[in-house]
Amino acid sequence: MKHGVAALALAAAATIAATHASAQSRPLVAPEAAAIYQRLLPQISRIKIFDHHAHPGIAGDEEIDPAPVPEGAMPLRLTPGNPDWAAANRALWGVTGKGRLKSLHPGAAYFNAVLDKLGIETSIANRITMSADLDPARFKWVFYIDPVLFPFDTSGLAARNSDQAAFMPNQAKLQRRFRQQAGLTAAAADLAGYLGFVTRVLEDHQRRGAVAAKFEIAYFRSFVFDDPPRDSVEPIYARYRDGGVPSAAEYKTFQDFVFRHVLTECGRLHLPVHLHSSAGAGDYFSIAGVNLLNLEPVLRDPRYLSTTFVLIHGGYPFDQQAIFIAMMKNVWLDSSATGSFLMYPNQFKDVLKRWFEIQPSKVTYGSDAFPVDASIGTEELYWFGVHNARTAAAAALAEMIAAREITEPQALVIARGYLHDNAAALYR
Ligand SMILES: [Zn+2]
Repeated sequence: MKHGVAALALAAAATIAATHASAQSRPLVAPEAAAIYQRLLPQISRIKIFDHHAHPGIAGDEEIDPAPVPEGAMPLRLTPGNPDWAAANRALWGVTGKGRLKSLHPGAAYFNAVLDKLGIETSIANRITMSADLDPARFKWVFYIDPVLFPFDTSGLAARNSDQAAFMPNQAKLQRRFRQQAGLTAAAADLAGYLGFVTRVLEDHQRRGAVAAKFEIAYFRSFVFDDPPRDSVEPIYARYRDGGVPSAAEYKTFQDFVFRHVLTECGRLHLPVHLHSSAGAGDYFSIAGVNLLNLEPVLRDPRYLSTTFVLIHGGYPFDQQAIFIAMMKNVWLDSSATGSFLMYPNQFKDVLKRWFEIQPSKVTYGSDAFPVDASIGTEELYWFGVHNARTAAAAALAEMIAAREITEPQALVIARGYLHDNAAALYR
């Protein structure tokens, strides 16, 4: 999900929701499963969580996301009047207020205290660079690799629409930053040199602590990747390395080739590849383009069997296709955004149940928590994630037990896998 949401509306939301202090969203559980749900929920709520996708930090931190979308329409879950804003405030701050926790826990101890309050053991920090406000013992860094796809003039891409016009300058800026970090003063001489540079970017980030590389490529183009031969890409690199505006087709051919190089190298380096794989924000995000069936030929390509793929946001609204793709031994799903603020727990219960009934060992928990403004921070959205996931998972599993599909001990194994073990195993 993308992070340019309407800040003012959210600030108002906390106040409005405070008038409904007792209410919070919940899944509706089949009557035959209601007692089981009541038994499961406290046990599931005690499981320490591994959050597979979040953007921790404070509002205004430009190192969180290179492609913030201009303000646009938001899902209902994130709009004013939702009783969950008040529930989040109660759970996080109690009666003492937000400032108190911060003064009790200065520096990097603050975000650790937030995780402790919510029962989160470890959180991924998907950021351009890591922050000194985040303790590396609790936050694992996942960086953005997309800028390696943009070494040429991006003005042709920026001209497509206002979202792309907002995204492209940052991609160009980060491509320059990658070059500086690699000690390059000019573009690599040829395609072989450029691929060597891309490998160095991956290795440098891994050396500096990154545990995975993230593509938010669906914000820039579709998941349709051709497989161009190297000798068709070399002349494109030679023609545009020092200037000139490539055609859309030339840029796509180059990106298709470099994307595949990144996948190969991430396999060699044991660096999982995270891919934004759901509907996204902005007026010009292509739902057709992000359809996971477009990416299926890449995910099922035997050349990338040693590459670990994490489909961030679980492909939603193509979540039904996603779970069958996640039956590939090197593909996992992450439920962030989809399960935390695109859906309420009631609908998310049904998604989780379908996923659990097919391949529970490949489903992982994430929040996509990110800071919006001074009143709605990463903290509140961390709560949205854990609240949805615990209640929806307990409801889904209770209904599976009531339907005599699984036993209660099996349900708790699935819950531990989803909330912690399945993701944690990828980073040991
Ligand atoms: Zn995200």
